[in-house]
This record gives sequence, C-alpha cells and structure tokens, in this order.
Amino acid sequence: MIKTEKLSMLFTTEDVQTKALNEVSLEIKKGEFVAIMGPSGCGKSTLLNILGTLDSSTSGKYYFEGKEIDKMSESQLTSFRKGNIGFVFQNFNLIDELTVFENVELPLVYLNGKKADRKKKVMEVLDRMNIAHRAGHFPQQLSGGQQQRVAIARAVVTDCNLILADEPTGNLDSTNGVEVMELLSELNRQGTTIVIVTHSQRDAKYAHRVIHLLDGKIVSEDRNNISIK
Ligand code: ADP
Ligand code: MG
Repeated sequence: MIKTEKLSMLFTTEDVQTKALNEVSLEIKKGEFVAIMGPSGCGKSTLLNILGTLDSSTSGKYYFEGKEIDKMSESQLTSFRKGNIGFVFQNFNLIDELTVFENVELPLVYLNGKKADRKKKVMEVLDRMNIAHRAGHFPQQLSGGQQQRVAIARAVVTDCNLILADEPTGNLDSTNGVEVMELLSELNRQGTTIVIVTHSQRDAKYAHRVIHLLDGKIVSEDRNNISIK
C-alpha cells in the first residue's frame, strides 16, 4: 500500500536547519498494523504527516498503491486524502462547538453526501464505536476516551483504507488507552491498515510490526507474533 524511498525532511527556520527525517525507506502492506516508536523529536510526527500527505518531503519518493504522491496536484491530493486516509490525534481535535453527531458527519458533508444517507452512516459508525448514546452531546461533556472514540468514528466514517494515529492514547489513562487500542485493533481485523505513533510498549503490542526511529532514521524493526488478516 505504501512505499517510501529515502524520504528526507529538512526544516529551515531563520538560520537553523533541522533534518527531521534522514532517508527513510519503508513499506507498509495493506492490512498491516504498524507502530512507530522513538524519543521525542526523532521525526515520528513528520513521517506520519508525510504519509498522510499533509506535508511533503524535501527529497525522496512516496508511492501510495503505486501512485507517486509528489506528482499529484493540490486538488488531486485533497480528494485522494478524503477518500483514503483517516487521521487520529493525541488531542482528539474535535470541534467543540459541534455535537458528536455533527463532528462525525463533517467529512461526509465535505464529500457532498445526501442528508439521510449521512445520518444513517454516522449513527452506524457511532454505534460501532460504542458512543451512539452520546450523539447529541458536545465534546467537552465527554471523557477523554469517549472523545477519542468520536475522533476514530470521524476518521472511519468515510470508509478510509488507512488510519494514521499520532499518539492516540497519549492523553488517556490506561483503561481508556486500552479501549482505544482495542477499537483500532478491531478496525484492523476488519481490513483497515493502521499506522500509529506511540511511546507505549502496551500499545506497540497491538501492532504486527514496530519501527524504531532515532534522529530521523529507522534504526531497527521488531515483529510481533500476530498474523495479518
Ligand atoms: P516527534 O513527533 O518524533 O516528536 P517531530 O516529527 O515533531 O518529532 O519533529 C522532528 C524534528 O523536526 C524536531 O527537531 C522538530 O523540532 C523539528 N520540526 C518539526 N516540525 C517542524 C517545523 N514545522 N518547523 C521546524 N522544525 C520542525
Ligand atoms: Mg510527535
């Protein structure tokens, strides 16, 4: 599904240059669950943002299902992203002024779905995430774990093929963290490819494979004893 060749990312701010990624080459298969680990500042978020096409590398190549991402125009990229990729963040990134239902509906509104179809789809996904009873609540009325389940619902409501989650359990206690990981794991068993960034060994155990980054480079990889569906 994903292949990168020597991706590098150089950030230049005033007179300081930071090499956030240094020739990262990796492959991720359809249906895989991959965890990326490494110390703060080693380039994990930068890599995830590039894989999510939110950012583009300063050199190297990125192929998604054989298509070279860097050759797409901005509008092609936007529709590619909407149809394929769901994002989950550490701070949930829900819109406080919108209800749970409206937050999850938003990607479908952008895709111009019909209102009745949208409602059916949103309620179905909220139900799968075990949060349908909170549809009319606002994010601030929910616990962190519930907010993250809403964020995952928003990520999957468009039937994305790939979920990119940047420290999705970073702000959760262990009970809620495990619940979120179980949900991601269930989505993966149903066929969604998942890439998460995590600091937690507990989270990494859910992955088929763990990639360790240090100073913008892949330094090692471990494989867990789980088979890919
Ligand atoms: P991680 O997610 O592993 O903590 P990041 O990918 O956020 O690391 O950052 C990697 C390095 O790149 C860090 O040194 C960080 O300060 C730098 N960096 C990240 N984003 C930017 C940016 N937009 N401008 C300048 N430097 C950045
Ligand atoms: Mg980060």
